[in-house]
Amino acid sequence: MMPLTATQKEMLRKLPGVDRLLELADRDAFFQSVPRSVLTRSIRTVLDDLREAIIGSGRRIDTARLADSAVMETVRETADRSMAPNLQPLVNATGIVIHTNLGRSLLATEAVENLVRIAGQYSNLEFDLQRGKRGSRYSIVEDLICEITGAEAAIAVNNNAGAVLLALNTLAKGKKVIVSRGELVEIGGSFRIPDVMAQSGGIMVEVGTTNRTHLTDYEKAVDEETALLLKVHQSNYSIVGFTREVSLQELAELGAERGIPVMEDLGSGTFIDFSRYGLAKEPTVQDSLASGIDLVTFSGDKLLGATQAGFILGKPEIMDRIKQNPITRALRIDKLTLAALETTLRLYRDEKKAVAAIPTLRMITEPVEAVEKKALRLKAMLERLDTERMQIDLVRQTSKAGGGSLPLLELPSRGLAITVKGISANRIESFLRRFSPPIIARIKEDRYIVDPRTIQEEELDIIAAAFQQLLNKDKP
Ligand SMILES: *Cc1c(COP(=O)(O)O)cnc(C)c1O
Repeated sequence: MMPLTATQKEMLRKLPGVDRLLELADRDAFFQSVPRSVLTRSIRTVLDDLREAIIGSGRRIDTARLADSAVMETVRETADRSMAPNLQPLVNATGIVIHTNLGRSLLATEAVENLVRIAGQYSNLEFDLQRGKRGSRYSIVEDLICEITGAEAAIAVNNNAGAVLLALNTLAKGKKVIVSRGELVEIGGSFRIPDVMAQSGGIMVEVGTTNRTHLTDYEKAVDEETALLLKVHQSNYSIVGFTREVSLQELAELGAERGIPVMEDLGSGTFIDFSRYGLAKEPTVQDSLASGIDLVTFSGDKLLGATQAGFILGKPEIMDRIKQNPITRALRIDKLTLAALETTLRLYRDEKKAVAAIPTLRMITEPVEAVEKKALRLKAMLERLDTERMQIDLVRQTSKAGGGSLPLLELPSRGLAITVKGISANRIESFLRRFSPPIIARIKEDRYIVDPRTIQEEELDIIAAAFQQLLNKDKP
């Protein structure tokens, strides 16, 4: 290490000590509500950073930064940041409804209320009130799922990745699983079919080619070590052109003929036929089961619009084996999840009610006219702020279902393209991202783009307030 210069030594001497800063903090009302541990950690962090700046940079640093008041200001900011929750709500202005990075699905109000109710009290989570004996948490949603989908038996676990792992491990550990090469997908967040297969102990047998797989490919691959025929929903990509895939019905027939169970990883999984709402047809859970396959798995927080969960639906004999697998315990569903799931599933008893009450469904089926109206309301609010500097255009664009759901589905939408004189789109994006609450949107061709489809009504004010602050801060 280089020896310190006289100036550097002088600056280090000027730096206030920990005791001095603690003394100052004691006299400052702001720190009354800050725990001692946070205060001392903030002081250490700030002093370390300053020492590093002094020693590390050959250049002089502004001595004003070393004054007691300046150091305390930085300590205050540091403490403030560490007091703020890490997980916080935000405004999704991206137009991607099931945005995995932004928490996927919002819960219906009814589900939130039930979750809060159950969270703060004891419940009959694993207690059978009729018989006064130990019960099973898995029974809480099983009947409801069966009622909605026509399944004979069902189980809900931690997530769909867990559901797939559990089903493969139960049915195919040490045995062969036949799957088409066109379906060896990777879903965001490191879920890859070959990797999950390897972890489950199943031996993957790939058949067909990337674009075409025929029934004969499966037929030829079946032997006495085959435990399962697996079909995987392509979820987040599609193969177009010269393609062929084997239908669930064909696989169900082959499985029945050879006495081999057939499973589908449906990925998103919906109970509602979106083609009734003018959207593309996405196979429903009911469709999968009606094809005659033995079991189907899907997520709770994609198109279903509930919490993170994974479902396995199917034949009772298979479901019994799954319930007895020790891995089920490791993938056990939490009571808060069950509380939200049960309420959400009950809403599905009346489809109209479900579409109106479950935010994911409401946003996906929201007609473009309604999105445009919301866009125009926001436009008017923003234009009141500063007509001189702001340029706001209503633009045609598409929103996305997201979350590896309805991959090809682009929802016709309307957005606002916003530019502010003297403030770059990047500056707008970073200011709004750090706003409280944060606002997340896109930049396209140097314009800040918001898509009102995923913005909730009461959040329009937040966006206007954020722009107001930005305009005040970055005055020309
Ligand atoms: C999303 C998805 C998964 C993973 O589901 P999670 O609930 O996120 O664990 C698995 N398979 C397919 C086909 C998917 O689309």
